[in-house]
Amino acid sequence: MGFNVAIDGPAGAGKSTIAKLVAKKTGFIYVDTGAMYRALAVHFIEEGLDGEDLSAIERACQSASVSIQYENGVQKVILNGEDVSALIRQEQVGNMASKSSTVPKVREKLLELQRNLADQEDVIMDGRDIGTNILPNAEVKIYLTASVSTRAKRRFDELTEKGERCDYDEIYHDIEERDYRDMNRETAPLKQAEDAILIDSSDRTISEVVSEIMNCIENRRK
Ligand code: C5P
Repeated sequence: MGFNVAIDGPAGAGKSTIAKLVAKKTGFIYVDTGAMYRALAVHFIEEGLDGEDLSAIERACQSASVSIQYENGVQKVILNGEDVSALIRQEQVGNMASKSSTVPKVREKLLELQRNLADQEDVIMDGRDIGTNILPNAEVKIYLTASVSTRAKRRFDELTEKGERCDYDEIYHDIEERDYRDMNRETAPLKQAEDAILIDSSDRTISEVVSEIMNCIENRRK
């Protein structure tokens, strides 16, 4: 069994940025579970499915296989034998993933992959249900959040920096919708595990948050 760090929280709280930095400092493997849901979403889009048609998603799920590979420490996500890492960050894919991840069969499909990785390696794994459902015995559990307006502003700045045109109000609304779906689905909803440490990153720098998590890890390893 590896040493397991679980980081859960809503979209845009900074989980992946923080987790990657902690992984670098500790030498742990960073596992991005959102990327796995996104890879399945690519499959559903390629099959021409509508995100609202949950029974079609459940059926299509059976014909998909997702795995993970690491190249120089960077996670690649493989869908039906093909590296789809370059496709998964599209807005359309994120939207489909947010809807299709409510389907229990979709979640079941990825559960074993996530647990096996954590079993074999020291990992820092981010997602929505890692501390509550996937790794209930993780040595360190963090619930990382930030206000909706902070997360919307971060996303707006990120897209603007990339030269993409976007609308703040639309982003704000989209984040609210994703939070609602993540927190209210029946299977493994997003919530803080009882033994997770709550960190609100709204008014804190990235390095402050990284230090706090490093302290938690060091205390647990003593
Ligand atoms: O974190 P990211 O935005 O990449 O995740 C994509 C979608 O997958 C999220 O909107 C969320 O609904 C879902 N997800 C999930 N459980 C996880 C990770 C992601 O339901 N462990």
